[in-house]
Amino acid sequence: MKLWDATGIPGPDLRLIRMLKTLAILVLTIFVTSVAGPMVIVQAAPEASAVESKKAAVAYAARLVGDKGRARLIVDFDSAVSYKTSVIKDPKRIVINLSKTVFSLNKDATDVPDSVVEAFRFGAIDPQNSRIVLSLSSPALIDSQRMKSLNDQDRHRLIVDLVAVDAEKFQKVAVERAETPPVAKAVKPEVQKRPEPRKRESKRKFLIVLDPGHGGIDYGAGGQRGTQEKDVTLNFAKQLATQLRENPSYEVMMTRDDDSFVSLTQRLEFARNEKADLFISIHADSLRQRNIRGATVYTLSKKGSDSLARSLARKQNRSDLIAGLALPQLEAPVNDILIDLTRRETKSFSKRFAKSLVGSMRKGVRLIRNPLRSADFFVLKAPEVPSVLLELGYLSNRRDEKLLSSKKWQQMVAGRMRLAIDGFFAPRMAAKP
Ligand SMILES: [Zn+2]
Repeated sequence: MKLWDATGIPGPDLRLIRMLKTLAILVLTIFVTSVAGPMVIVQAAPEASAVESKKAAVAYAARLVGDKGRARLIVDFDSAVSYKTSVIKDPKRIVINLSKTVFSLNKDATDVPDSVVEAFRFGAIDPQNSRIVLSLSSPALIDSQRMKSLNDQDRHRLIVDLVAVDAEKFQKVAVERAETPPVAKAVKPEVQKRPEPRKRESKRKFLIVLDPGHGGIDYGAGGQRGTQEKDVTLNFAKQLATQLRENPSYEVMMTRDDDSFVSLTQRLEFARNEKADLFISIHADSLRQRNIRGATVYTLSKKGSDSLARSLARKQNRSDLIAGLALPQLEAPVNDILIDLTRRETKSFSKRFAKSLVGSMRKGVRLIRNPLRSADFFVLKAPEVPSVLLELGYLSNRRDEKLLSSKKWQQMVAGRMRLAIDGFFAPRMAAKP
């Protein structure tokens, strides 16, 4: 049977790999040192690791083969990695935690055959750990798993075999979440502790928190030309941050400034802890209706303005699942009249900003029909931070995809946004001593 000799991964070009590796180490060093900015999530390497803790491995080839009965994942690394697998329910996933790994795979590596596996994702989960997530189309368990060295010590192959099982057996073995979710572990104390807010300069600046959607293992939407949402949102946020920083009255922070995974809870808590004056989450999702295009500004509402907004929020609120985390949850709401008032005030600020954002973007940026919409987006739920979510456009639309990848277009949109932000803070700026 063809499946079981399916190891046809082409031999690596060792020079290229060595080069990639140097690059990888460089990138990771920059990553670790730059993380000292907004999100400090440093965690020790997994205990079982026999690998030097600072060295990153490069995954240079991967392949998934199989059918509805069985599937095999093969990943080749240039050096030894430690790994740990878990089977997770709701949604059904196989999670493979890896020590620090840089993925340098062909685009078609994530093509999956019609099999028990529905999707194959990989990426960084924090500065020390990486992860592969296989979403299952039907219940399956790990039949066998092994890591072996090939030919010489420089090539290491991970092989994970899956076998289809009935739902009952799957439920018995599968767990709620990955056994050692590095992100959750690293971040939780930080979140619960609610560190003291930063000391502000006496002349208080307005703090704007930009939230580039997705990142790391969570790619977000993908365009037909291969554009990934996580790159669009990051590039745009950087562009906007640069423009806003020209105004000395603003301080700008970002929930991520590189390709790292940040959970929804972390994004929200970051804005709250820093006492942001404005939170803007940036996205470029895809819709089933490929003809729909144009920017949309979303605010929070429980019910949702329309079915498109509702389904987008539902999809987005589940994005942590991609990384193997559980669904995000807010602390139980406190019945407090003050919090209630704050929430109401925040809501009206958010709406006011959303409206002026749409007004400013209308002059030059293509908008969706009814560009002011609302839905139950988790990241917009900070009771005291005016928050909006901006869909710059939709990667499911070819023409939008082209615009979203254009630096010139991004600059223009950022400029329009800057005007709206200036307008939003202007009354308060005038009131400042
Ligand atoms: Zn998105």
